This record gives sequence, structure tokens and C-alpha cells, in this order.
Amino acid sequence: MKNLIYAGVIVLCLAIVVVMLLRGGDEAASEIPDAETTWVKCIKCNQSYEMSLKQYLKEASEKSLANPSSMPVLLPLTCQKCGQDGILKAYKCEKCGEIFRENSVPNDLPDRCPKCKHSATLAKREANKAAQK
Ligand SMILES: [Zn+2]
Ligand SMILES: [Zn+2]
Repeated sequence: MKNLIYAGVIVLCLAIVVVMLLRGGDEAASEIPDAETTWVKCIKCNQSYEMSLKQYLKEASEKSLANPSSMPVLLPLTCQKCGQDGILKAYKCEKCGEIFRENSVPNDLPDRCPKCKHSATLAKREANKAAQK
């Protein structure tokens, strides 16, 4: 009986987390301008392309609604090039032009380039620091 209660509590917690994530996604999406784009990269065919950030978030939340049992943030979207579910958020390095997946360098900034180690987030941070001096 105790185990059953534990299981119930865990399921309830997970449900709350999923609902919060989905809500947050919706709110974020409504604030994003239509012109905002993001790079995505397919882990199946290794091709990358640019798509509307709004569209990406919309598809991501639709995907997680369709698969309530999996973690919503980790679901790859359907690739426009090969039609398989392999699309993950990516960045284009502003320095060397490499297109790489988010968190390509473990335990580092999500937009750290695995090729030249440039990070737009860090560059911005340093620019802000310099401006404050
Ligand atoms: Zn693909
Ligand atoms: Zn780079």
C-alpha cells in the first residue's frame, strides 16, 4: 500500500512539472517575435537548417503533448530533410560558421562552439562587462 502511495505522489509531481513546462513554453512563445529564427540540427541525417523559433517551440510542445510519458524538452522534432525525428536545437557559431547542437561541449555554456570554442553568450557577457567600465 505504501508503495502505491509513493507511486501516486511521483506521478502527480511529474504531471505538475510537465504542465509547468508546457505553460512556460506557451508564455515564452507568445513573447517571441515571428522574425526570430533558430538553427536546428538533425541527429539522424546530420543536416541543419534555420527555422522560426516560434514554430520550433510550437512543434516541441505539440510533440510533448503527444508523448506525455517522455521528457518534453528532450524530444527531437521531425526533420524537414529526412522526415525522421532527429531535430534538436542548434547554434551557428558567429565566428567560424560551424552549426552545432545545444550543449555540444559538456559542462559548459550551451552555445559553446565545439570547433573554435567561441560562445556568443560569453562574448555578450564580456561586452557588457567592458561597457560598464
Ligand atoms: Zn534529418
Ligand atoms: Zn566556432
